[in-house]
Amino acid sequence: MNFFKQKKCDPEEVIKYQNSLAELDKIAKMLIKRDLALSDSKEKLTVEKGKVDAVINSLTDGLIMIDQGQRIILINPKAQSILNIEEEKIIGKALSELINFPQIKELYEILTKTAGHCREKQCELILKESVEKIFEMQTTLVVTEAQEIIGTLIILHDVTRERLINKIKSEFITIAAHQLRTPLTGIKWSLEMINTDEITKEEQKEFLDKAYQSNERMIRLVNSLLIVSHLEEGCFVYKFSKIQMEDLIQEIIENFKIQIKNKNIECIFDKPKILLPKIKVDLERIQMALENLIDNAIKYTPQKGKIIISLKESDNKIEVSIKDTGMGISKENQERLFTKFFRSAEALKIETSGSGLGLFIAKNIIEAHKGQIWVESEEGKGSEFHFSLPY
Ligand code: ADP
Repeated sequence: MNFFKQKKCDPEEVIKYQNSLAELDKIAKMLIKRDLALSDSKEKLTVEKGKVDAVINSLTDGLIMIDQGQRIILINPKAQSILNIEEEKIIGKALSELINFPQIKELYEILTKTAGHCREKQCELILKESVEKIFEMQTTLVVTEAQEIIGTLIILHDVTRERLINKIKSEFITIAAHQLRTPLTGIKWSLEMINTDEITKEEQKEFLDKAYQSNERMIRLVNSLLIVSHLEEGCFVYKFSKIQMEDLIQEIIENFKIQIKNKNIECIFDKPKILLPKIKVDLERIQMALENLIDNAIKYTPQKGKIIISLKESDNKIEVSIKDTGMGISKENQERLFTKFFRSAEALKIETSGSGLGLFIAKNIIEAHKGQIWVESEEGKGSEFHFSLPY
């Protein structure tokens, strides 16, 4: 008021001035309101972007987006690890500039080969590093609402394990069918013979016995195949309990008494003078591994041979050895001994009924107990299989 009095202003001018001030105030308030709304939506946008980023980053599939000039505009961590490359080195660059990275070269070549105008395409990307990896590669055109193509989305899905399992399965079926054919043919042949009128009662009994043996062999084979398939699918459940190893070995030797006697084999169990401490194992599985090893020692040792089973303790480990005076194993075959379905040519000649799965199963069982299994052998002189188990 003093100011107006001092300057002696025209009251009309004052009213005008006050009106303009009120108008300005209104505009300022409006601007502040808009600013607040803007910063609010900016904040919302940042939150939403954070969510999308989190989803993309946690995808278990590799995701890459390239623009129309084939420049990489987005790559998630999974794709970076698949292609063995860091985002900083490739973002904004065209694929053609990056072909000195071997993995990107593969990707680029496939994209070039399959280039076209389809919205979606699926092909296979094989990357060879230390191990071969197979990916299903899905490419999809990214189209806006206005039907403008802004790039291509590439999704890499790892199918290495799936493919491996499929391969193992078909290999498994082929060999299993092959192995089952022999006992089945045996049973068929025995039944045919029994069905003829020309055989005596005694011969009939003989053929029935043969059919029974073939059937037993088939059951053993199917059991081994089931165990192997469980082992490979990783669903072999172990139940641990404390056992006395001396008792288990003694019991197994008893179970093989007839076979040992039939072959006139001398079997010695060399056990420590003082009882060893009990060991925590899956009794059924360790029994299976031991039976496979002792069964082999009997099978591949000729009449009047010798088998020594020994047990010792050292370095907080228990070591079991099964030594025989059998046919032995050549150095070359020793390398393949513990692989699935391996049978040496010599073994095939003297013992036709094996499956080549016993040692593979034994190795898996021992290793599941964090133990080791190995062999020492000389062709024609004999073999000594050892396994150790930690306490
Ligand atoms: P299978 O005995 O049914 O053939 P295994 O997996 O138990 O299957 O053994 C695989 C192969 O290893 C045998 O076929 C044989 O060639 C060899 N082998 C195993 N144990 C012995 C042994 N004690 N002496 C000689 N060869 C053996």
